[in-house]
Amino acid sequence: MRRCPRKWYFMHYLKIFRKRETVNQNATIGNMCHDAVDQMYRLGMDPLAVIAQHAATMVAKEETLMLSATDDGTLQHQENITKIEKAEEFSIKMIEGYVEWLAETGADSGMTLIDSEVELYVPFPSTEITQLAGEQVMMLAKLDTRWHDERTDARVFMDHKTVDQFTSREKWAHLDPQFRWYALIEMLDNKAKGDNTWTDGGIMNMMRRVKRTGSAKPPFYKRLTLTYSIHQLRTYFERVAGELMRILQTEAMLNRGVSHRTACPPSPTSDCAWDCAYMQLCSIVDDGSDSTGFIETAFQIGDPLERYETVSA
Ligand code: SF4
Repeated sequence: MRRCPRKWYFMHYLKIFRKRETVNQNATIGNMCHDAVDQMYRLGMDPLAVIAQHAATMVAKEETLMLSATDDGTLQHQENITKIEKAEEFSIKMIEGYVEWLAETGADSGMTLIDSEVELYVPFPSTEITQLAGEQVMMLAKLDTRWHDERTDARVFMDHKTVDQFTSREKWAHLDPQFRWYALIEMLDNKAKGDNTWTDGGIMNMMRRVKRTGSAKPPFYKRLTLTYSIHQLRTYFERVAGELMRILQTEAMLNRGVSHRTACPPSPTSDCAWDCAYMQLCSIVDDGSDSTGFIETAFQIGDPLERYETVSA
C-alpha cells in the first residue's frame, strides 16, 4: 500500500499475478546473489553451485512454459532465458568477489550466526486496530540472517542487498522502512516471548551489481549498520498503526463497492517501469479497454504471501 495503492489492490486485494512474467535481469541478479549467500551461511553450501542451480531451475521453467506458448510467448521465453543466463554470469562474478572480500577483510569476524530465513509472526499490539479489523492483526517479517555480535553482546539482523551504487542507497538507508519494520517486529517478538535480548538494529550487506572487470572501480562490497532508539521504534509503531488503518478503511470501501479508482488510486513514478508487473494493466483499467478480459487472459490468482511458510496455504 505504501508504494502504490493500485499495486496493493492488484496484488493483495484481487491477488492476481501474470501468467507469463517478463524476467527482470537486475531483480534476478538480486535473487540469485541472495540465494547464494543465504545457503552459504545457512547450509554451508558452495554459493556458486547455488547460483548455477537457481539459473537451471529458472531456465527449465521457461522451457516448460515455451511448450504451450504462442509465437509471442515463445519469443518472450527466449528473451527471458537470455536474461537469466546474463544474470547468472553477473551473479557468479559478484559472489566470487564476495567470498574473497570476506576472507580479506574478516567482515564476519566477531559475529556468530544464530539462524537464517527467520519468520517472525507477531500480534500487532493495539486494541483499536483489532476492533477495526474485527480480528487480531498479525505482523509478519522474514529476516535473512540473525547474528550475535560479540563486540556489543547484542543480536543484529543482516539483510543482503544488490545495489547499483553505494552512495545512492546509503543516502536514504536511515529512512528505509524495511529495516525499521524488522527492528520493530524483533522488539515486539522479544517482548511477546519474554526474551530480554537486545536487538541492535540491522546490517545492510551491500554488493554492487558489477562484474568487477579491470575498468570497474572498487569497493564492490560494503556494510552499513542501522540502529534505532526506542523513541524511533515507538514513533514508527504509530506510523504502522496509521498504515494499517488506511488498509482496513480501503478494504472496507472496496467491499462496499466503491470504485478502486477512488479507494486506491495509482501512484506512478519513474520506478514503475522496473518495479511493477502491473504496468500494462495499470493503463488498461483507465482507458476504456476490456480490462476484465485482459485480466482473465493474462493473469491468474496467486498468493501474495507465498514466500512466508507461516501463513501460506
Ligand atoms: S504501474 Fe505504477 S502506478 Fe501503476 S500500479 Fe504499478 S506502481 Fe502503481
